[in-house]
Amino acid sequence: MDAEIIAVGSELLTPFRQDTNSLYLTGKLNSLGIEVRFKTIVGDDRERLAASLRQAIERSGLVILTGGLGPTEDDVNREVVGDVLDRPLLEVPELRKSLEERWAKLGRAMPANNLRQTLVPRGAEWLPNSRGTAPGLWIEQDERILVLLPGPPWELEAMFEAECIPRLARRAGGTRIRTRTYKVVGLPESEVDRRIAPAFKQYTNPETTILSVLGTIEVHLRAHGSNDAEADALLTELGDKFELALGDHIFSSRGESLEEVVGMYLVMKQKTVATAESCTGGLVAERLTRVPGSSSFFVGGVVAYSNDLKTRLVGVPAELIASEGAVSQPVAQALAEGVRRRTGASVGIGITGIAGPSGGTPEKPVGLVFIALADDRSTEVRRFQFPGDRERIRTWSSVAALEMIRRRVRE
Ligand code: AMP
Ligand code: MG
Repeated sequence: MDAEIIAVGSELLTPFRQDTNSLYLTGKLNSLGIEVRFKTIVGDDRERLAASLRQAIERSGLVILTGGLGPTEDDVNREVVGDVLDRPLLEVPELRKSLEERWAKLGRAMPANNLRQTLVPRGAEWLPNSRGTAPGLWIEQDERILVLLPGPPWELEAMFEAECIPRLARRAGGTRIRTRTYKVVGLPESEVDRRIAPAFKQYTNPETTILSVLGTIEVHLRAHGSNDAEADALLTELGDKFELALGDHIFSSRGESLEEVVGMYLVMKQKTVATAESCTGGLVAERLTRVPGSSSFFVGGVVAYSNDLKTRLVGVPAELIASEGAVSQPVAQALAEGVRRRTGASVGIGITGIAGPSGGTPEKPVGLVFIALADDRSTEVRRFQFPGDRERIRTWSSVAALEMIRRRVRE
């Protein structure tokens, strides 16, 4: 069975509100072995919703509408579904009674508008809402299932969990979907594709998608199987080929972030790190401290932005900055060695660069970043020329610094 989701609400077509319900639903449906093939966002408009709905029930075995079940005039889903399926709306006495009781408890009379929530298309099952007033609807017609769920995520999730998952599990008929993500660093997307395409082109199951995510590349695999073990075996079969093709550029296959992996290695090797950052403004420190338990491997860091602070806090010689410039290989080195010396960390990181958009020169253009790593063996300084805007240059710099730590500590 394939599914399709229609998120209803004019606010979802503005820049201010996002449809998150469909993400939640897709996750849940996938774990039942149901793929989502289409998603639509449509405003609170009878004609457009009717058109979307007609098209959806034409092509999908399961159609889920979210939102549009409220008591106000702009919530039209019930009426539109009644029209499209040619089923009159009938009042459900039980629903009316429970709504009236709810209002009575609040000590107020029920507004007439709310009566809309007691109407159900003929032959539809209504789904209780444990966290709100709008009941959901479950309608079966010609081997198709149409489900209407309330818009507020808190209500939708409880209802889907309690009412829909058990009903769907009974029919989903045993296919399982399993996923795996390989996270890759240090290779451009095109190179990742070149290396793994020969393998994944031979498979329609698992399906492979390559995306670039904040300075790293993710390779997503989705496998279908008649049970988890079968799907997992397919993931491993193709995944093994990816591991061979990408080698140690893969830093994670179980969802860990780069900073988590770095933290893991540091703990394993009983090493600590300290940072002296200029153009990244503490981004590397921020990322390292996102990791729970980071106090066991992260000593601390300084944002040494001005030349004066580079000298006073990290001990970079003022003459060095004057002769080489703040953005230079020797200054990056002095930052890494200085912060290591002054904090006693086993690894020191120094970052200096030009994040732009201004401040670039022909010799030192925007995007030029020096990153140094110092430990008890040696200091390595790398020169990068990152493309993109300020935000991207800073993100790429943090990825590159974390990757330098990963490589050094793993050795
Ligand atoms: P409605 O049931 O259409 O009156 O929606 C009630 C509220 O639920 C809206 O104001 C939104 O805040 C929220 N909502 C509706 N649809 C969605 C959606 N697809 N994703 C996330 N929130 C939603
Ligand atoms: Mg709405």
